[in-house]
Amino acid sequence: MTSTGCLFCQIAAGEIPATIVHSTERVLAFRDINPQAPVHVLVIPKGHHPDLTALADVDPDLAGELLAVARTVADAEGLLPGGYRVVLNSGPHAGQIVFHVHAHVLGGAPLGPIATV
Ligand code: AMP
Ligand code: ZN
Repeated sequence: MTSTGCLFCQIAAGEIPATIVHSTERVLAFRDINPQAPVHVLVIPKGHHPDLTALADVDPDLAGELLAVARTVADAEGLLPGGYRVVLNSGPHAGQIVFHVHAHVLGGAPLGPIATV
């Protein structure tokens, strides 16, 4: 299911270009356009769910798949030895800008204190 005018639905549909690093039946990973770390990849469900609350309510298995793909991406990007951070902003107080749920996978250098991205 796509949501009209949703940026990440359009990326999932191939209507807006992105640098895709991993794709499964239900999950897509692509590079963030404004990276906040040497590696900054976004992991999204291909179907539209506005935020983590909505996704976990209707499809907790897919929420788990999102995290599993985050781990796969971290491995493919060489982040397992040094470690990495996964951030899921959910709602306005978290600073969520794009209301199609996405996990940020960040790494490649020491990241400093949490609360960015
Ligand atoms: P959030 O604040 O968690 O909603 O983060 C939204 C993220 O989407 C930001 O890190 C943006 O840099 C990223 N972003 C926005 N537009 C694009 C795009 N066209 N391709 C890739 N990443 C994008
Ligand atoms: Zn969407």
